[in-house]
Amino acid sequence: MTEGRYANIIVDISHEKVDRPFQYKIPEKLLGKISAGMCVLIPFGKGNHLRSGYVIEVTERAEFPEEKQKEIVEIAAQGIPVERDAILLAAWMKKTYGSTMIAALKTVLPVKRSVKHKEKRKLRRLLTAEETRSVLGECKRKHQNARARVLEELCREPVLPYELVTGKLNVSPATLKSLQEQGVLAIESESFYRNPVKIETDMEAGKRLSGEQAVICDKVLSDFDKGTRKTYLIHGITGSGKTEVYLSLIDRMIKRGKQCIVLIPEIALTYQTLLRFYKRFGDRVSVMNSTLSPGEKFDQCERAKKGELDVIIGPRSALFVPFPNLGLIVMDEEHESSYKSETMPRYHARETAEYLAGIKKASLVLGSATPSMEAYYRAKQGKYELLTLTRRLTGGELAHVSIIDLREELRSGNRSIFSKKLQELIADRKTKGEQTMLFLNRRGYAGFVSCRSCGYVMKCPHCDVSLSQHLENKMVCHYCGYEILKPDKCPSCSSPYLLGFKAGTEQIEQQLYKNFPGIRVLRMDADTTRTRDSYEKILTAFSSGEADVLVGTQMIVKGHDFHNVTLVGVLAADLSLNDSNYRSGERTFQLLAQAAGRAGRGKKPGEVVIQTYRPEHYSILRAASQDYESFYEEEILYRKLGNYPPAAHMMAVMISSLDEKRGETLAARVAKLVGKDVRIIGPSKASIGKINDIYRYVIYCKAFNYGQLTLVKDKIEAYVQSLALKQESVQFDFDPIDS
Ligand code: ADP
Ligand code: ZN
Ligand code: ZN
Repeated sequence: MTEGRYANIIVDISHEKVDRPFQYKIPEKLLGKISAGMCVLIPFGKGNHLRSGYVIEVTERAEFPEEKQKEIVEIAAQGIPVERDAILLAAWMKKTYGSTMIAALKTVLPVKRSVKHKEKRKLRRLLTAEETRSVLGECKRKHQNARARVLEELCREPVLPYELVTGKLNVSPATLKSLQEQGVLAIESESFYRNPVKIETDMEAGKRLSGEQAVICDKVLSDFDKGTRKTYLIHGITGSGKTEVYLSLIDRMIKRGKQCIVLIPEIALTYQTLLRFYKRFGDRVSVMNSTLSPGEKFDQCERAKKGELDVIIGPRSALFVPFPNLGLIVMDEEHESSYKSETMPRYHARETAEYLAGIKKASLVLGSATPSMEAYYRAKQGKYELLTLTRRLTGGELAHVSIIDLREELRSGNRSIFSKKLQELIADRKTKGEQTMLFLNRRGYAGFVSCRSCGYVMKCPHCDVSLSQHLENKMVCHYCGYEILKPDKCPSCSSPYLLGFKAGTEQIEQQLYKNFPGIRVLRMDADTTRTRDSYEKILTAFSSGEADVLVGTQMIVKGHDFHNVTLVGVLAADLSLNDSNYRSGERTFQLLAQAAGRAGRGKKPGEVVIQTYRPEHYSILRAASQDYESFYEEEILYRKLGNYPPAAHMMAVMISSLDEKRGETLAARVAKLVGKDVRIIGPSKASIGKINDIYRYVIYCKAFNYGQLTLVKDKIEAYVQSLALKQESVQFDFDPIDS
């Protein structure tokens, strides 16, 4: 173990005030036993309360006089040591995204404490069947019925589960113990791993790769064998064989003794996806995600460390599974916004994977049908290597797309949420027994409730947002959960015309029942997918033909092949365009292109209807023609003009406060710290100025050089640390996704 009598320790308290290492003396009894990464117990603060902390360094150099040093009390029994690489990763996250060190350490720890292994006990017969039978006879003569029951079973089976015998056969542990002492049987226990996925399937060999696929695999592997580690971006439409490429790459990495991480968006982590990996790699593959129990997570990490796992699949947190021999990280659907963490540290899985691949000397493969502007920009700059798949391997043709101008519809007197064309097509599909997907591309729900007489809007008393109407006159705040019944009269003018604005998925469902009597509808949105399996259940029900139409928010466009879907309708393509966000064009393009990719995945040709008020917008036009390259060229121009990422970098400084005035003052002071070389916008109220009674302010900083922004961040962090704030907090968001 490490030499040194002093340990520098990060205390497990998440507050800026203590966000630095504290030095402790290593007591005699622990000398030589403490190393970086260990979780230890230490006396902390004035009261010397026992706290846990992580050792980040062991040193011979005392930072202050010996007699003033407190001592480490002991090594925390349930603590999990942080691997050396994970400490590096945490330090990098803190520096890159802004965070306390303890929050960064906790982020990179896939499990927070050690959990006991599960044990399975068994009874093993020590005698031959014949010998056992003779002991059995003896017991019967002596009317030892319990013993007889075990022995009878042991004559048939040499090994029995312990629980079977104590349970179903009703034999007491004492009896078993005495049989063990007699030398008739042995009680054995064996620890086993909790398995988060119960998939038993036949193994399946890989497909023979197409020419394009083979070129990609050979490129990545020959680079790897030469010791060249790069980031690759595979651009290929859905169905062009990206997943098959990942499988083949992983297969060949495993043959080289390497382990692999596969990142997929949480929402795509379905049985279907997992099945493909299990078929190929059997029980050498496992999953990691937030639905696993602490025990399941702990066991997967143990298996990874011991080299008993080759592949882990999961959302962004799967990056932190400790593989000693990591050779490859795959990041599918690289453009997904769920790859960005929305809590401190606000890391992006793409950059974090790049850094991790760097320290582990692994290759990184990104894949997408609609790459993020970031990834494509870097590919164009030569930082990533661009690899393309151009053909759909399943042979399905791309769907026919029509764009409907909703202004025209209104002019011709159609006030329905369905254009005439869409109505005709839905009816047509229903008669033919084919299926339709209707898609509302917004994250939100039913719109706001307002008074048609005076314009009063019902708002949440705790947040700066309007309440949304749900069925049965319930009004809900989607930020804090506040809920009330809709009043009969307008609280402002007492008029009875207090009405919900109809645009949510529930309203679409209701409208379908009205327009198409007898139609069967399934709805998928945040409300219908609250429970763990509901997402999977709805998809299964739809794919087995239990409904004519699936209505949903953006979650329905992900993954999944529905072979009987021949019509996809996008009800209001503009909804995602109208976000006041520099990424709204990109997001709209991605959502529409993916929605279009849903139609006609089977043998029958597909049709897509995009309804919009802005039929001339390039995001909509390019998505309709599935022309990524042209979309990129237009979008990057806009980013360059506005100095938006990826052409420049951006840092949002978010200030929140329980008190409005104090928040304002703090925001103004923080803004003064930004130097002249960085462009600054604000401070201003955040787009939602209040959530849960906390006031929110934001400052945007832009610079071409990321390092300039982290310098500003460091300065602000130091300032905030010196203030020892109690009711305010300052957080950072680099290259923000949602503001
Ligand atoms: P993507 O991940 O790009 O959507 P997939 O890897 O899922 O594409 O491939 C789409 C379909 O084509 C799948 O059904 C897959 O089994 C099949 N496929 C992929 N590669 C091949 C191949 N080399 N030969 C035959 N079929 C293939
Ligand atoms: Zn009113
Ligand atoms: Zn609220």
